[in-house]
Amino acid sequence: MKVKVLGTQSPYSTEGHHCPGFLVTKGETKILLDCGSGINSLLNFPEDLKNLNIIISHLHRDHYSDLFNLFYASAVFKRQGRLNDKINVYLPSTPELTYKDICSEKDSYANIDVINQDKEIKINDIKITFSKNDHPVETYSVKITDGKKTIVYTSDVSYSSKDKLVKFSSNADLLISEASLLVSHGFPEICNHLTAKQAATIAKDANVKKLVLTHFWPEENLDRYLDEAEEVFDNVFVAIEKMIIE
Ligand SMILES: [Zn+2]
Ligand SMILES: [Zn+2]
Repeated sequence: MKVKVLGTQSPYSTEGHHCPGFLVTKGETKILLDCGSGINSLLNFPEDLKNLNIIISHLHRDHYSDLFNLFYASAVFKRQGRLNDKINVYLPSTPELTYKDICSEKDSYANIDVINQDKEIKINDIKITFSKNDHPVETYSVKITDGKKTIVYTSDVSYSSKDKLVKFSSNADLLISEASLLVSHGFPEICNHLTAKQAATIAKDANVKKLVLTHFWPEENLDRYLDEAEEVFDNVFVAIEKMIIE
């Protein structure tokens, strides 16, 4: 499995930096984890629409706003005869108004399915499972495994979900964790997001092999996230757009 970093910051995109998106590929199969604003610019159209499965971890706009343009592109490429199979989109069913808005999009060539705590998606030899997080809307961490390697993407999560997340990501080869905050930002320990230190603590307690931090505040220096995480966990990197993780 290979991971291409498409978007690493929130809540808005800036030149060369996009809202959340990670493209996992194995052979012909593609799994797009979140579809934040700007990430379409790093996809190859229409090739990347083929065998594409999109997982939207939660319905906060920084995680799904490029989905509408991608839908529209799928409809156009279908009309042009350049896309034969529908893309598959998996997302939570709440908040209901947002969910219905996405499902009601007519200019699209997509199947839509709901995710929940018990959902299991199988694509060839790949299995995808979910763990519900504490966050202001229905939000899931996502685990992708092919039986040999395991990738866990935390999505947005409060540190109150720590124990659950440690269990879910136990012994993973790669943990892609949000690290929206730094300890020096002064937020309470339990809020809607993780600090880099909390992400590193989860990685350490879960005994993961590698930690990649993401979901950065656009005005913050990335070295500060790295420095804070390295105090707790050694094998840590900051995600940067276009980076490929083998
Ligand atoms: Zn977010
Ligand atoms: Zn969120």
